[in-house]
Amino acid sequence: SHDDPLEQFMEIQLTENSKMEELIRENEGKVKDPNQCVMCHRILSCRSALQMHYRTHTGERPYKCKLCSRTFTTKGNLKTHMSVHRGKTFQRSIHKCPICFREFSNPLVLQQHFRSHASE
Ligand SMILES: [Zn+2]
Ligand SMILES: [Zn+2]
Ligand SMILES: [Zn+2]
Repeated sequence: SHDDPLEQFMEIQLTENSKMEELIRENEGKVKDPNQCVMCHRILSCRSALQMHYRTHTGERPYKCKLCSRTFTTKGNLKTHMSVHRGKTFQRSIHKCPICFREFSNPLVLQQHFRSHASE
């Protein structure tokens, strides 16, 4: 969705899951439940919850905020974090481009400007 102007500052860094898959392969058969973590034996509600849980073991943080470069394990965490910038970046009179740090008084102008970086 493009409804939220902050969406454009959210980045998903797709990393290879080899580290995690290796762990799972090594420990296959050691857990009875398919949604059970091979590391700590915790049982998760579903497959995607289990995958998200594995990130706590691999230290993977694929969700990144482009405004402050902080990274998160889940999209939910990143979305929650983005609200931190909502007040600062979009309601104050000065809006800074996170790439070239140019300042804009109008957030829509900044949005257009930001897109010009993407097309470069
Ligand atoms: Zn675990
Ligand atoms: Zn941030
Ligand atoms: Zn810029």
